[in-house]
Amino acid sequence: MNIAIDGPAGAGKSSIARLVAEQMSFIYVDTGAMFRTMAYYFLEEGIDTADEEAVNAGCDSIDIRIEYQDNKQHIFLNGTDVSEKIRQEEVGKNASIVAKYSKVRTKLLELQRQMAAANDVIMDGRDIGTVVLPQAEVKIFLTASSLVRAKRRFKELQEKGVDCNLEEIEKDIIARDEQDMNREIAPLKQAEDAVLVDTSDMTIDEVVDKIKEIAGR
Ligand code: C5P
Repeated sequence: MNIAIDGPAGAGKSSIARLVAEQMSFIYVDTGAMFRTMAYYFLEEGIDTADEEAVNAGCDSIDIRIEYQDNKQHIFLNGTDVSEKIRQEEVGKNASIVAKYSKVRTKLLELQRQMAAANDVIMDGRDIGTVVLPQAEVKIFLTASSLVRAKRRFKELQEKGVDCNLEEIEKDIIARDEQDMNREIAPLKQAEDAVLVDTSDMTIDEVVDKIKEIAGR
């Protein structure tokens, strides 16, 4: 069985999907981490992410592998575990830039489909229900207001001891959504057969229960 969860940045997709996966004994696949890993490579190599040709040329030197340790997804870039390093805001911003390019998307699409074909997965991203797994049995579009999403991200960063500013975070989130919704290939969009879940006024447990109910569990 495949469950697709799409939605804008900071809607809580990964926290929710992780819990649903645990409770349903599914594998959680975080596809954002794959785009972040590509972006991380370009940043490390000093390749300008706005330069599509340079990014395309770099794509062939990237090997991405996913492993599960204690049920947790670990992502490897050319053999090195970069799961923690890719969480920085800068990497997220650049992930959204390289995610516009067809070569980047094609490279990751194959890996995403292979994982879904071989396992019961709950996969989150932006185009899972529309492009990656159009046949998924369950599709959810998870959203929340930009302020609620910014507040959640702010709290998360503060807990990690990262100095941050709420207004700036909200501005970045809105800019990233705009970029993701307006790109030509596989834009962020609710699939016609996806169920919309607005989590603005819901607790994590309520959202998890809602998704299990939609999945018939
Ligand atoms: O979800 P996360 O913030 O980790 O995703 C980082 C970026 O990767 C997104 O802003 C989006 O541009 C891109 N992405 C995508 N398609 C996906 C998952 C992520 O384009 N399926």
